[in-house]
Amino acid sequence: MKHNFGAGPCILPQEVFKKAAAAVIDFNGLSILEVSHRSADFVAVMEEARENVKKALNVPAGYTVLFLQGGASLGFLITAYNMMGKHKRAGYINTGTWATNAIKEAKGIGLDVVEIASSQDKGFSYIPKGFEIPEDIDFLHFTSNNTIAGTQFKDFPKTNVPLVCDMSSDIFSKEINVADFDIIYAGAQKNLGPAGATLYIVKDEILGKSTAEHIPSYLDLAIHAKKDSMFNTPPVYSVFVANLNLQHMLENGGVQAIAKENQAKAELIYKTIDENPLFEGTTAVEDRSEMNVTFRLTDESLTDKFNAAWNAAGIVGLKGHRSVGGFRASMYNALPLSSVEVLVDVMNNFNK
Ligand SMILES: *Cc1c(COP(=O)(O)O)cnc(C)c1O
Repeated sequence: MKHNFGAGPCILPQEVFKKAAAAVIDFNGLSILEVSHRSADFVAVMEEARENVKKALNVPAGYTVLFLQGGASLGFLITAYNMMGKHKRAGYINTGTWATNAIKEAKGIGLDVVEIASSQDKGFSYIPKGFEIPEDIDFLHFTSNNTIAGTQFKDFPKTNVPLVCDMSSDIFSKEINVADFDIIYAGAQKNLGPAGATLYIVKDEILGKSTAEHIPSYLDLAIHAKKDSMFNTPPVYSVFVANLNLQHMLENGGVQAIAKENQAKAELIYKTIDENPLFEGTTAVEDRSEMNVTFRLTDESLTDKFNAAWNAAGIVGLKGHRSVGGFRASMYNALPLSSVEVLVDVMNNFNK
């Protein structure tokens, strides 16, 4: 078996892969790939998946869970449309590529975007702090984990302004207080399931309150909520496998247990990066991501040799994003500590 450090689509537990494979052949006498999304069997899966998200994240009453399509990239537009309020102005914290893309979509539908803070001056290598949040904005949008740069908010912004968060790459990695947010959204393929579904956790109060002149039906969360996430054909297989993963998560200590594992994995690799003179981290130490660990060789002429070493150890997906360079070890929930140990061994042996 290879060790998958890829940034997404992500590794999932082997048990989930086995059950997912079995259902392609037989899901109550049909293949899961051919089953009607209106069948009682699949409606039950959709309802269970929505419930399991609530269980895993302790979602309070007054929130609706939806599985839609379009990825987080369509989420940039969906959140902007649905959160547009009386100010027609929104605050965005710019912490990297994905936040930049979110800003672009918000501007595109006529929102007056205030860039509250940005870490662009240092290549998005840190999380901005100490910024002021104006009151006359409809919402504040931020990206909890920056998949490409390798930074992560350790504390979420404190404000009375409604919060919207792209949690694509760290949702279910640790406990969160859902009540602090009006919308949380996440592409499934980083920590939840296969690509295809996008998760939305939406405060019911905001549904149908947009001041946008017209919202295309598919982008209107109120329509999806009214139809119980079945406005049109949902991404059946992606939801099915995400639910298997949620079941697996809940049977194994839930998000609390996962958070401990993730901390142990992150501690091990960052310790290695800090102690081994051949490597250096690329982000501010206090903002280091537990999910996406970015680092580089102190001597870049060793790149080919290091590539050969981790390839030989069965590691895949370690190459850094083209905009950052270096290396990126993505350590999503299902990546075992033993895989991180293999990588750390490669790094330490490389030093010898
Ligand atoms: C991957 C990613 C995206 C883009 O997700 P798609 O589902 O491919 O549109 C957006 N935001 C973050 C934080 C990501 O990690």
